Amino acid sequence: MSQPAGKLDPHEFKLDVSEAQHRIWQDCTPITDYQMISVREALHRILAEAIISPIDVPAYTNSAVDGYAILSTDIPEQGRQKLQVIGTAFAGEPFTGELQPGQAVRIMTGAVIPEGANCVVMQEQVQLHQSHVEISGQHRGGENIRRAGEDLAAGAIALAEGKRLIPADLGLLASLGVNEIRVRRRLRVAFFSTGNELRSLGEPLAKGQIYDSNRYTLLGMLKALDLELIDLGVVKDDPQSLRQALFAAADEADAIITSGGVSVGEADYIREIMQSLGKMHFWQIAMKPGRPLAYGRIADTPLFGLPGNPVAVMITFYQFVQPALLKLSGVSNVHAPQCFRVRSASSFRKRPGRTEFQRAILETDVHGELQVRSFGKQGSGILRSMSEANCLVVLPKDREDVAVGDWVDVQVFEGLMH
Ligand code: AMP
Ligand code: MG
Repeated sequence: MSQPAGKLDPHEFKLDVSEAQHRIWQDCTPITDYQMISVREALHRILAEAIISPIDVPAYTNSAVDGYAILSTDIPEQGRQKLQVIGTAFAGEPFTGELQPGQAVRIMTGAVIPEGANCVVMQEQVQLHQSHVEISGQHRGGENIRRAGEDLAAGAIALAEGKRLIPADLGLLASLGVNEIRVRRRLRVAFFSTGNELRSLGEPLAKGQIYDSNRYTLLGMLKALDLELIDLGVVKDDPQSLRQALFAAADEADAIITSGGVSVGEADYIREIMQSLGKMHFWQIAMKPGRPLAYGRIADTPLFGLPGNPVAVMITFYQFVQPALLKLSGVSNVHAPQCFRVRSASSFRKRPGRTEFQRAILETDVHGELQVRSFGKQGSGILRSMSEANCLVVLPKDREDVAVGDWVDVQVFEGLMH
């Protein structure tokens, strides 16, 4: 590890992507603090309690369609049966009488099933006369009826602890009459960029300087996770500033993310500082882009030292950091980014021995079949490839060149980016 850049032993040990994911995963323990919030504020928050249904859902037996509530004993064996229509049941306005043989009640979707009735015939399936309807023998008892408690019985778990709430969950909570819920507090994440060449927005660029883009990419990826963010700006590549920034971050945050300074270049102090703290791993990961990655703890706060290259920042974030942040936040069912398999419309050069993440475009061909084609230029500094692509083609470690028509695994941005 002490050799200068470019002279690394080509046979040096490299960690597999899945092994690095596993080690980080094992090391992260969820925060436990919680707060009470209203359902209106609950999108993307993480439940710190199981929600037990206080009621039956549906709360009462009701009609699934617009039609006629009848007794199943009136369904004819053959031919048709005339029934007298004795009233109407609306949603929120029940029919109060009791149904007798030979009678039907006009009923709307969601209305309480009248006393005595045990079947609803869809209005499209009856013949309507002035004050009666005619039904055929095709119907069955229980048809088009939603039983009280059939979706969720009172006392059953409606939402599990550790669930990250999606729009359907807000509706589900409302349907149970639940207004206040206990959620984990938001994870606090501090992040900064390292590099003497970096300037912040608004500052003029001198020769050899570039704008710090990683901090903005990180800002976007972190905002999408609905976390509490502490932006520590750009930190110079000197041991004093880096040490200060790292300890300040550890003090305030539950997790720290840095970019740059983890390769083997001269001015990359981050590795040295973190190594001197004793709880730091520097991994050469068998992947492209994103080879160098640091993971460890500063004063017990997990730290993710991402590479400096803009594309590598995004790819390592999604493969390693995002699942870990979700676990730290208290999400119980976190999984590594999911792949699905499609045909490739491009060929890819691939050398075995490392996992490659190629920027690509998933689209439908003229027959409406999904296919994926390479974005083209794959340099790890070309951020435009992440902006214009809509997925990553993941070529596993042992895979060799891909020919047009071969199956490949893709991770779709819409699924990766929360
Ligand atoms: P490093 O890992 O620090 O050697 O950085 C690798 C490459 O990424 C260099 O070309 C850096 O200039 C570039 N880089 C590092 N940090 C940033 C940043 N925050 N924004 C844009 N480019 C960066
Ligand atoms: Mg640097």
